[in-house]
Amino acid sequence: MKTGKCPKCQSFDVYIGTEVFPKSGPFGSNTIPVSLTSVAALDNYVCGECGYVERYVAEESKLKEIKRKWEKTKPSPSAAGPE
Ligand SMILES: [Zn+2]
Repeated sequence: MKTGKCPKCQSFDVYIGTEVFPKSGPFGSNTIPVSLTSVAALDNYVCGECGYVERYVAEESKLKEIKRKWEKTKPSPSAAGPE
């Protein structure tokens, strides 16, 4: 999706909400909780054809914080596919 192509309908009509202000909406929408005192704002990618939305953590520092604080998934041998 970051390359401008929708993974669902293969359309190239993809829009990026990186410059939307305010980035985090009311009541903490458009964010994910990182820890008790920290939330990460998200970049939204929206397909203009099918309406599919992908969200990415916007700030590099928040990404680092998540990697520090969150438990990492452990890939199991049976989970060969995507996800
Ligand atoms: Zn689409």
